[in-house]
Amino acid sequence: MSRALPDTARRGWCPGLSRPMPTGDGLLARIHPPLGVLSLTQARAVAEGARRYGNGHLDLTARANLQIRGVTEATTAPLAALLDHVGLGDTRRDGGPQRLTLTSPLAEGDISALAKAIEDVGRGVPGLPPKTLVSVGMAMDEADLSVLPLVAGRVAIVAGTFVWQCGSSDTPASIGTLLAAFVATGQRRMRDVNPDALRHCERSEAIQGSGPPPNVAPLDCFAPLAMTVEVPAPGLSTHDGQPILALDAPFGRCTVNAFERLIAVAEDIGAAEIRLSPSRGMVLLPSRPEKIRLPDLAANFIVAADDPRRAVAACTGAPACASGSTPTLLDAARLAETFRPLAARGLSAHVSGCAKGCAKPGPADLTLVGHEGAYAIIVGGAPGDSHQLQVPIEAALERLGRAATLGLAAAFASATNDGGRNRRPA
Ligand code: SF4
Repeated sequence: MSRALPDTARRGWCPGLSRPMPTGDGLLARIHPPLGVLSLTQARAVAEGARRYGNGHLDLTARANLQIRGVTEATTAPLAALLDHVGLGDTRRDGGPQRLTLTSPLAEGDISALAKAIEDVGRGVPGLPPKTLVSVGMAMDEADLSVLPLVAGRVAIVAGTFVWQCGSSDTPASIGTLLAAFVATGQRRMRDVNPDALRHCERSEAIQGSGPPPNVAPLDCFAPLAMTVEVPAPGLSTHDGQPILALDAPFGRCTVNAFERLIAVAEDIGAAEIRLSPSRGMVLLPSRPEKIRLPDLAANFIVAADDPRRAVAACTGAPACASGSTPTLLDAARLAETFRPLAARGLSAHVSGCAKGCAKPGPADLTLVGHEGAYAIIVGGAPGDSHQLQVPIEAALERLGRAATLGLAAAFASATNDGGRNRRPA
């Protein structure tokens, strides 16, 4: 049985294993694999947990974590114990972030070690907002802090519109100083912090003691560093001579059966671990790449970079989520095919079961928001924005078919003649 919880109470909640979050389809337990990496033993435990204690599906999140849905009050403890036993248990009990850092699935060596050290420091900062994020080795808009390697053992720490430099060995302490200053502001996101509130950090021992004077400069000075994101596109490729198999989960979801088949593939191709990707996918580093059969994997995963589903976000929707009135995953799959020419131009779409926008809270070029079995259409906005049109999925697809030539705004203009099927409700 799920616990009722108002939306205001859920905001900012970081559900873990010991404290899962009520949703429309039971409790949602989030697994935060250290550094986003699962050994095959851990992966088998995740599969067992989702099958025995969840609803047989796994969500892959944009922060490279995993979610098990359909957990109950009775199954919360055994699921947590199962995963704790293999090193996937919660890391803190104070409501702070279970996983603070995000790295590329291709991260190795120094970057992985730095991310681990930052995790250790972060656990010692009480009061961190649960969604605090430090990206390490790559710049991310949504990160509160980004740590980017520079030359000669130095790193840049990007906080909002400011950049600090420090020595690599001083980075964890510098991050700790900045996180403590962030907590003191009472804000939930670093981007909302007045930069003046962080200026005293420049005088901190960690940053002052790191060699040359701290360099505070506008972010523009470091714009080229933002090109460091390394998330491999689906399919087979190589990185520094290492074969890579990257697979995205359609709409961030896969069944336990599919996940177990992937574990078997990992064993077969000589991959020792499954690395989770912010693209809501998984990356394997095979030692026997010649054994990979992409067509076999395509039944369950996205295996090609030009798959239009990569441009479409979708939440669980109905019937699994009680807040939804439309089958978002089925509708998103239909929409993706029609969206293909727009996806090829770099446009994005989002099919949301309700205005909460779990899959993508921000704007997309085209957003469909479920309401009483139909969809409100928002062009260039977010799920919570106002809409001009509400139509059934068939009418939305029909209009979308014209968008490749007319453009989205014209195709979804409320005055478009569609035989009266698309009238807004009274
Ligand atoms: S956005 Fe989707 S998953 Fe989230 S509450 Fe609404 S229907 Fe449920």
